[in-house]
Amino acid sequence: MEDIDLQQKLKEVFGYDTFKGDQEAIIRSVLAGNDTFVIMPTGGGKSLCYQLPAMICSGIAIVVSPLIALMKNQVDAVRYTSGTRCVAHFLNSSLTRVQVKEVKDDIAQGGTKLLYVAPETLSRDDTVDYLSSLAISFFAIDEAHCISEWGHDFRPEYRRLRQAIDAIAAAQARRAAAPRHIPILALTASATPKVQQDIIRNLQMENAKLFIASFNRPNLYYEVRPKPDDALTLHKEIIRFIKDNSGKSGIIYCLTRKRVEELASLLQLNGIKALPYHAGLDNKVRADNQDRFLMEDVDVIVATIAFGMGIDKPDVRFVIHYDIPKSLEGYYQETGRAGRDGGEGKCIAFYSDRDVEKLYKFFSDRPPTEQELANQLVQEMVSYAESSVCRRLNILKYFGEDYNEPSCGNCDNCLHPKPQVPARDEMVHLLETVSAMKQAFKTKDVVDVLMGRSNSHTKPYRHNLLEQFGSGTDRGDAFWKAVIRKALFEGLLLKEIETYGILKLTPAGQRYIKSPYDLSVPCDHDYTLEMDDYYPDGGASAAGDEALYAQLKSLLSDIAQREGRYPYVIFADTSLKDMTIQYPCTVEELSRCTGVGIAKAQAYGAPFVELIKRYVEENDIDRPQDIVVRSAVNKSRIKVSIITSTDSQIPLDDIARANGLTMPALITEMEHIIDSGMKINIDYHIDANIDPEHQDVLLDYWANSPDGSIEDALDEFADDPDYTEEELRLMRIKFLTAYGENADN
Ligand code: ADP
Ligand code: ZN
Repeated sequence: MEDIDLQQKLKEVFGYDTFKGDQEAIIRSVLAGNDTFVIMPTGGGKSLCYQLPAMICSGIAIVVSPLIALMKNQVDAVRYTSGTRCVAHFLNSSLTRVQVKEVKDDIAQGGTKLLYVAPETLSRDDTVDYLSSLAISFFAIDEAHCISEWGHDFRPEYRRLRQAIDAIAAAQARRAAAPRHIPILALTASATPKVQQDIIRNLQMENAKLFIASFNRPNLYYEVRPKPDDALTLHKEIIRFIKDNSGKSGIIYCLTRKRVEELASLLQLNGIKALPYHAGLDNKVRADNQDRFLMEDVDVIVATIAFGMGIDKPDVRFVIHYDIPKSLEGYYQETGRAGRDGGEGKCIAFYSDRDVEKLYKFFSDRPPTEQELANQLVQEMVSYAESSVCRRLNILKYFGEDYNEPSCGNCDNCLHPKPQVPARDEMVHLLETVSAMKQAFKTKDVVDVLMGRSNSHTKPYRHNLLEQFGSGTDRGDAFWKAVIRKALFEGLLLKEIETYGILKLTPAGQRYIKSPYDLSVPCDHDYTLEMDDYYPDGGASAAGDEALYAQLKSLLSDIAQREGRYPYVIFADTSLKDMTIQYPCTVEELSRCTGVGIAKAQAYGAPFVELIKRYVEENDIDRPQDIVVRSAVNKSRIKVSIITSTDSQIPLDDIARANGLTMPALITEMEHIIDSGMKINIDYHIDANIDPEHQDVLLDYWANSPDGSIEDALDEFADDPDYTEEELRLMRIKFLTAYGENADN
């Protein structure tokens, strides 16, 4: 078996030209009959490490995988790499008795190469009996970290795998003349040394060949952006980002369910196909939303961290962290869901001091040791966010990996090193200010004093009488925050965790005031102004012909819908993009596109080839294609503004003026918002402007109006000039918000 041409097999079955990372060595290890242990980050290509040898070996590979919900999907993906032959099946508790029988009957026909089994199913006696009757090529244990209590997803059933495997081997040995060692391949993306130890001990794989891949994901772009204090600015920035990346799949992580819901609605309102996902949603809704994301029916999932475990959508193009995550490991896992196919993956985290304080508060009612651990994790996240050093280097260092490149070329700090300005005197000034404020205040208050701004502490603590009050206005907030960060970094100041961030001088800080040394701080970036040219371009992942790409994508989506499969199971995004470069006009040519392979080309290629052929004929391919740029007037901005402004109870006249609308036009906009299922609370305006008796009469009218028609209402009140059209319509909005279909319950 040693001299088998694996590369050719790879091309034939999966359509790839080259192996990724250690794949080939891993596969050879399995083929040689070794127990093999693979640690590879998400997106590294673990599945292929058992799928390809399974196709080559005689017998069936048993794949243990914890996620029943995803098993069907995984099996479909392999099935269709091999054309119409059913080479993969699964057994788990979701199957009916009849379905189980069908699976077993088909396996009895021969030809099955992979059998996915849920861990709890594998340890059942009847499964052990059944499996010991099969010729097993090897066992693959996916997500092997589930074995360890130290892992982030412990599953007790995983601890019984070894027993089941032994029982199967023993039963086979009793029957066979020459008993054979059945190799085990364990795979995981979770790498802490403690978890590794647990896996090896529990599966008794002490002699296994070990493959530990680098955790570097060169295709992921990391960026930390300062989080604007006001929600409107932040939301604008996020919406703009998504629109700049329209048509691409993305995930936005928020800390709370409430925020998830709000942001998802806001995005919908802005014409973005977005859905929420969190553990509080009804199971069915949650599963549907996830499915629609995988089906590419929606582009964006707004989620708590409940979303993502086992999501193997390969073409997620961005992951945004609306709130700063609780740990760097969590951040790495969540961003890891971007760009699994090796293509573009933009990872943007929004960061603000206030969020960090919120996190500390969030943990404050935990038992002391747990709290300490949690705070430590947050602190590591904070140093990552505030660092001006390469993000990748920071992350890899965290996982104990060396990274010696001078620049990764794919993170904000490497692409746009922040220019430094000298800040020795300013540092002294800051430390003196903290001291003058009796070391009893947080960053925000210190900056307020420097900027001469009053807040609730100013009067009681007489901050306005300090000589430092208003002394820093020539530099601005961002500068002083940078000086404070630098002071923390240099150990001149200390942020007290118990008090959620009160700044204290350290002995080094005291010394610095007396004998300062030269230091500089990074000038803060104005991210919003530079957003357009901020990213590295998509590079190799870009489609060659956007117009054709769009058509192929829509064809794929239609076929996927019809077949009830996820689009990427049929053709990966990278394959579509390659088609727009190669213009394959025969199934044979198509099979040479990346990620396609002969079987897939034959099973699915025909309509694609036809489309491309027609496209090539209809267009002069040598001539660069015109890209149609759609420029719609952006009404959604106005809607967001109306919602957030009414939320803050801003007078309607002011809202109208700010958006360049007349009052009737504003009311029309609000009616559209209500029609789209949102609510607008304008009680503050109504109570101040509409006579209470009128309110009662009109509420009563709308409650009894059969269809809510404004025309009818105008007719009804035509004789009564006391009731204005404005009143009628505003009360209708109130009614629909409070009692309409939009209302809760
Ligand atoms: P993991 O399970 O390690 O997270 P997957 O097995 O899901 O990763 O693979 C991630 C992506 O990489 C998938 O889209 C897969 O098709 C692709 N891939 C795997 N191996 C190769 C290869 N040799 N060449 C190109 N793409 C590959
Ligand atoms: Zn970098």
